[in-house]
Amino acid sequence: MEILNRLEREWRAGADAANTHATADTILAAEADGTASHGVLQATGYAAAIRAGLVNGTAAPRLLPGPEAAVIVAGDGGSSATAYALGLPALAERAEALGAAVLCVRNVAHYAAMWHEVEFLAERGLAAFACTANFPYVAPHGGRRPFFGTNPIAFAFPRTDARPVVFDFAVSTMARGSIQIALRAGANVPAGVGIDRDGRPTRDPAAILAGAQTAFGDHKGAALALMVELLAAGIVGDVFSDEAEAEAIAGGVPVGGVFVLALSPERLGGPDALSRAEAFLGRLEAEPGARLPGARRHARRNSSAPYVVPASLMAELRALAGD
Ligand code: NDP
Repeated sequence: MEILNRLEREWRAGADAANTHATADTILAAEADGTASHGVLQATGYAAAIRAGLVNGTAAPRLLPGPEAAVIVAGDGGSSATAYALGLPALAERAEALGAAVLCVRNVAHYAAMWHEVEFLAERGLAAFACTANFPYVAPHGGRRPFFGTNPIAFAFPRTDARPVVFDFAVSTMARGSIQIALRAGANVPAGVGIDRDGRPTRDPAAILAGAQTAFGDHKGAALALMVELLAAGIVGDVFSDEAEAEAIAGGVPVGGVFVLALSPERLGGPDALSRAEAFLGRLEAEPGARLPGARRHARRNSSAPYVVPASLMAELRALAGD
């Protein structure tokens, strides 16, 4: 904890308290839930992006005018976490009042896990869906050019007496980070993860990173990737993945839009909407071998097992904190 406090101070060299806290909260929540890929591992990247001026560490998001059922936030080039601090409570209020509302966040860097935003809403009794588009990495089904982002989608539904049901994943067959890890390890990836520059299926990570990733489920995942582009860029009013600045120029920081939908089960489905869903989820949980998405993370959050941070990462964090 002490090291995180020092990291906060260090970040403030390029970020103000509001931006620092919002980002640190997101990182710590991922770490606490055992989502190591989006936990403290990301701290050095966040800090470097702020220092390099790729992410605005003093972003001041503001609400823009729009229809009653929409909360529109101009993110000011900062982290999505800072824009959410303004947008998510406003979205929850609007959805509770109207039954349904959307949040359109423009011009933010979103490189966090997506469950955070939908779980925030579900903990307030709302069903929620969120998605974001990023750099072009994934080929359309039948095509060979990287065109869609890895385009994570997240969904959450509130429960009456338990943590919400939450799922959250990218529409690419494999996370790009995992392909990069395979490359560093000199290992092949499983079949179906990507294609080379000529559109030929390959298991060679270098060929896939130079070619294109595939969406899971063939045309079905590719259609989901398309949907995310049309919501997070088309509806939100920000860049499509194939318009995003080249990764090399953008320093690997995806800046664009986020789409979040919030629905009130009671306002839309009636007063027994949650208890009916609860009975359904109970039947699902009773199925041998099955579990609800989100259950693994929540179990980790409730566990008292220690967090293990690899020594090499710890050394990087200490260096960042000025040790
Ligand atoms: P996974 O393929 O690992 O899928 C994870 C989801 O599936 C979780 O909701 C998980 O629940 C659920 N799940 C896994 N196993 C089961 C099971 N047996 N039964 C029921 N549910 C299950 O995710 P990805 O690798 O595609 O994505 C990893 C992370 O990367 C995500 O958080 C995503 O948001 C993030 N990401 C962010 C991007 C960005 O631009 N910001 C881009 C791409 C990815 P549980 O947590 O309980 O295990």
